[in-house]
Amino acid sequence: MRMPVGCIGGARVYPILKYRVLWTWDYCMGWDHTVFARGRGAFGPNQRRAAFLSDYLRMVDFCAKQNINGIVIWGALRAHNGGEEQLRELANYGNERGVRILPGVGIFGYGGIYYDPRADYDSVVDTPLTPHPYSLTSWLTDHPELAAIGPDGKPYRTGPYSSLACPSKPENLAWFREALAWLYSEFPIGGVQVEVGDYSICHCDDCRVRRAYNLDAMFAVEDMRLAYGEAVSVAQGIRPDTWVICETYSSPGIAMHAEEPGFNKVMSLRQKELLSTLPEGTILQWVADRAVGPNADHRWPSNTYLPVRENIARIHAGSQWSGGGCDEWAVETISDLVERSAAGNMHGVSIFGEESPVAPPNEANYLAFGQLAGRDWTERQPVSMSQFYTQVLDPLYGGADMAAAWRNLYTSARELRARRSANAAAKLVRLADQVHSTSAKLSGETCRRWSWLEDWIWKAEWLCRTQPRRA
Ligand SMILES: [Zn+2]
Repeated sequence: MRMPVGCIGGARVYPILKYRVLWTWDYCMGWDHTVFARGRGAFGPNQRRAAFLSDYLRMVDFCAKQNINGIVIWGALRAHNGGEEQLRELANYGNERGVRILPGVGIFGYGGIYYDPRADYDSVVDTPLTPHPYSLTSWLTDHPELAAIGPDGKPYRTGPYSSLACPSKPENLAWFREALAWLYSEFPIGGVQVEVGDYSICHCDDCRVRRAYNLDAMFAVEDMRLAYGEAVSVAQGIRPDTWVICETYSSPGIAMHAEEPGFNKVMSLRQKELLSTLPEGTILQWVADRAVGPNADHRWPSNTYLPVRENIARIHAGSQWSGGGCDEWAVETISDLVERSAAGNMHGVSIFGEESPVAPPNEANYLAFGQLAGRDWTERQPVSMSQFYTQVLDPLYGGADMAAAWRNLYTSARELRARRSANAAAKLVRLADQVHSTSAKLSGETCRRWSWLEDWIWKAEWLCRTQPRRA
């Protein structure tokens, strides 16, 4: 059934999308600015873990105010810095405020359920793995015959966070069911985001027979079909209202040109149909970066086939994982995401949440996300982007048309910075003066947003002016 998204005189009626989720890695968070360690921790100690609650409790408070109702955390379960207690406290805090905490868990990769069971580290690289029954590496260390096989016929040589299990071995799925049940029994989580793993597939004889094609892939839709239903049945058996978000790694759209399957590529109709056997309650998550925004190169017609009833479209805009960088102004792209998701019969949207809203572009992105996907606009007039700017953003930037003016100056400054020339530096000085003349007339939070821009421009000017002299 088509959801009631519509266009009235250029304005859009956005229905409320049920799932409005921010996606994070714990080690990439930047909400507590007093902690500088960031960006290391996928394959070793997460030096940011000391700030885990300081980052995420702040984020829950923000989400609760802005109609954002879920936070995915990869690396959620780590033993060091009292990680189990941290996760428990955070999940309770989120539940009390209507924001679900959703640990990221791997089925055949990404560490399994317990991402890092090491309580202490003696050094960055040499600390042996502390065994835990629900760490995938512990499991495969005890059962090496259940590990995935590489194309050379031998088990993959992986690190402790990237062990790979063979999907065809029923013991692995039985272990995952038990591990997931333990996670739900120990922590008051609002759900999970599950992945089969997207960095290698198993090449054993059983897997080759089960997957009749595409043996060079980094992930396999057949493995999703095999495993995601297991996750749903365990999780909903324990907590019927839980969310089980299952990653497809694939675009929901249609390619303009033929392309091989892969991350951020389209999933063929035949592959999609394989997932139609997943049980009610499965929420499939799609990578929509190429289907929305000004540079979309996948078509996404509103009648595009989806194999299950509930779906989330996710993009990387405004994050370190995006070409536009962490401080990208992505309001218009996010609006497009929300509109197309609703028109395309999706029930949810997701963007990255690692950046704090102290930076105005990230704040504006989160406001667009939460307000367009989660606010009941229907009690008011249909909303156009210009009305969103007028009602939501302009008051934050000092008055009528101020938000669009800020955005245009920021866009110009980013274009100049990309040129890295003396001429661009001179133009940036003039832009900084222009911004300063505005910020000087403002005070409080509106002034802060313009001052942030002024500071950003001076940093860009310095980059353009100080060209390295190479011999
Ligand atoms: Zn296998």
